[in-house]
Amino acid sequence: MDYRFTDEEESFRAEVREFLRAELPEDWDFDPFELTEDKWDFARQFTTKLATKGWVAPAWPQEYGGQGMPYMQQVVLSEEIAYHRAPNTSLIGVTYAGPTIIVYGNDDQKKQFLPGITSGGIVWCQGYSEPNAGSDLASLQTRAVKDGDDYIINGTKIWSSNAHKANWCFFLARTDTEAPKHKGISYFITPMDAPGISVRPLVNMADEHVFNEIVFDNVRVPVKYLVGEENRGWYIGMTTLDFERSNISTAAQYRRTFEQLVEYVKQQGARSEEPGNGAASNGSRDGTQAKLAELAIENQVGRYLSYRVASMQSRGQIPNYESSAAKVYHSEYGQRLAGAGLQIMGMHGTLREESKHSRMRGRFARTYLTSIGSTIAAGTSEIQRGIIAQRGLGLSRI
Ligand SMILES: Cc1cc2nc3c(=O)[nH]c(=O)nc-3n(C[C@H](O)[C@H](O)[C@H](O)COP(=O)(O)OP(=O)(O)OC[C@H]3O[C@@H](n4cnc5c(N)ncnc54)[C@H](O)[C@@H]3O)c2cc1C
Repeated sequence: MDYRFTDEEESFRAEVREFLRAELPEDWDFDPFELTEDKWDFARQFTTKLATKGWVAPAWPQEYGGQGMPYMQQVVLSEEIAYHRAPNTSLIGVTYAGPTIIVYGNDDQKKQFLPGITSGGIVWCQGYSEPNAGSDLASLQTRAVKDGDDYIINGTKIWSSNAHKANWCFFLARTDTEAPKHKGISYFITPMDAPGISVRPLVNMADEHVFNEIVFDNVRVPVKYLVGEENRGWYIGMTTLDFERSNISTAAQYRRTFEQLVEYVKQQGARSEEPGNGAASNGSRDGTQAKLAELAIENQVGRYLSYRVASMQSRGQIPNYESSAAKVYHSEYGQRLAGAGLQIMGMHGTLREESKHSRMRGRFARTYLTSIGSTIAAGTSEIQRGIIAQRGLGLSRI
């Protein structure tokens, strides 16, 4: 397989970079986990600018608000957005909610939701996990009971990222309590301002409010927001997860973080060579260079795993164990990268405030803490390894 980009793709990359240089503040350093109000407002405005250029989901067909661009151009765009840490409040819509609606939604749902994603108007959250249903998601207890033209929803969802910012939610609920557990689940969409929905904040160990609990108390969801057939939601929900785990831009995001770390080590090395400066060495003796070389190679491997997934998507396939492999790899790489950065910077790296003692405003300490959750979110590494073993390698279930 030839992973090189074509001239057309490279010239599109240059155009995207130009746009990002013009639109992002010079010192912009967005971290999706650092959703302060001013950053969120900027993120919404920036997404609207992407939408105006038709760059939220450029590979989608024009009828859905896309531009019908070749899929690899969308890959280039995602890479550049991630590398430059540009915000995109339509990310869930483009990467997994929208693709699921394209595959399983009816015409009315496509007409309503897809242009809402490409215009930047819809911000999604995902309501899958429950207090007693995570890895074993099929044991979820949230109930949906049909009542005329509505379903009445009762239950509690947990760890829902961005639910406090989202205006729409896609979620799974049990519609048949008698059927085997995978076969009694349906897939729904609801506006977040529907009466009976309340969102409670959960603060992660980096002391940031990113995820939430969502309580459904007799919430009415119109039948028109059932996606696919009743009781077939498990299979739709799994397709969403396949798309979610595909996230092709993560390698680019980590490449930027890695380059910043290399830059930091170089600067420290240069300072240590100044006469009379006792700053840390550039690390050749303590193994830092070898560690960085290893991380550089691993980053490249992650990039190719992403391209494999992207190449399947560009052919209209839905990657499955391939996405799981990429997801495990990226999330574990992120932890190694953050750990290496923290080790290199020492205690200075843990200070978040701007000061002469802090290093990169504590970016690596924050990434270290938030990266712990990345091997849990969208299915834990153990679950991904199970998928790779069974579906990728054809091994039997233990
Ligand atoms: C940062 C973050 C964001 C998230 N965002 C969302 C979101 O937006 N929406 C949403 O619905 N959920 C979200 N989640 C929840 C996430 O999907 C679950 O936490 C995850 O699926 C694990 O479920 P659990 O927490 O119940 O852990 P458990 O399922 O209880 O797992 C506990 C441990 O047991 C292991 N384990 C469980 N079953 C097996 C098995 N069969 N084989 C081997 N090991 C096993 C797990 O790997 C894990 O180590 C998020 C989580 C995090 C950390």
